[in-house]
Amino acid sequence: MDAVAVVDRDLNVVYKNPAYVHITGWRAREFEGAKVPGMCHAQFGMESCEDGCVAVRAMDSGKPTRVDEVRATRKDLRVHIVAMPLTDPDGTVWGALEQYRDVTAESNMQEQYRRMLDHERAQREALAQELANTTASSKEALDRERLLSQTDGLTGVFNRRYFDARIAERVAAALEGGPMVALILFDLDHFKNVNDTYGHAQGDVTLREFAHVLRVSARDEDIVARFGGEEFCMLIGGKSIDAALTVASRVVERVRARVAEGTFLTTTSGGISICPGDATTPDQLLQLADKALYVAKRTGRNRILTFAEGISAAGDVVPSIPPTSRGEH
Ligand code: GH3
Ligand code: MG
Ligand code: MG
Repeated sequence: MDAVAVVDRDLNVVYKNPAYVHITGWRAREFEGAKVPGMCHAQFGMESCEDGCVAVRAMDSGKPTRVDEVRATRKDLRVHIVAMPLTDPDGTVWGALEQYRDVTAESNMQEQYRRMLDHERAQREALAQELANTTASSKEALDRERLLSQTDGLTGVFNRRYFDARIAERVAAALEGGPMVALILFDLDHFKNVNDTYGHAQGDVTLREFAHVLRVSARDEDIVARFGGEEFCMLIGGKSIDAALTVASRVVERVRARVAEGTFLTTTSGGISICPGDATTPDQLLQLADKALYVAKRTGRNRILTFAEGISAAGDVVPSIPPTSRGEH
């Protein structure tokens, strides 16, 4: 049964049923000595009655008024209260009838349901986070693996496989009107002697040092790769062959300087070919750079020749980066 109380305009409780006494948690005799007006305020928490006393609002508006989820102060109960204005035959409002419905069980269920939803949401978020972490770490692992699969283990520069993929892309782009692409093939001079004289381990150090020289001589966008053995290559983009000649001469000068100061064991030779210009396919680009390299070797080593120069060098050598006597083996 719902609890019911009737109040007059001054909020004196003029009637209350047994259920009202029960719901408040007061004993019947406690009501006797209590200050009567607004007694509901002593028995129910007012935090939900933000807009003021529900009975006063009903009486002032002349309309039924409702407030949800008011807490009883002595019992762990939640109630809905509906207040209806009571009028004289002439329409004057003289009081209000208040009906209190115990919604504790329903509200507990809702609370439980809310908690369950919160719990589920938290679980979902934790799962999503876990998934994101896993994805990030497997992405890192994949990135690491990809990097390893693209890199030469000894020197840390790109490997032949990676280079093959990039040269194909850059040649295609150059043929479609993109930047010209130059290939420089480097080969260390008399490297076999380095191994024979200083040992294979020292040979490895030399390869690593040479790779370092290539890296610091190249620009960020250039690709440095180890072709295998003591052969390295670079892919260089630009408007003309000048970019490649600049990088190639940086390499040669650095190597020569280090050989001269005794911190590097051998010199390098190189061949350059360009697309478009000399070649129209990656294979051709490689073959022509190799031809130029071959001529550079045959004509004294420690020099870089372009393919065009290589052709003329078959008769008359015109090196872009002439050999010096320093550091020649
Ligand atoms: P050239 O000036 O004509 O190029 O003479 P070269 O002695 O450099 O050429 P050759 O092809 O005769 O010798 C290359 C040597 O490089 C032979 C090989 O043992 C050595 N080599 C290849 N790969 C490695 C490596 O990973 N580490 C070391 N230490 N040596 C290597
Ligand atoms: Mg070689
Ligand atoms: Mg060599």
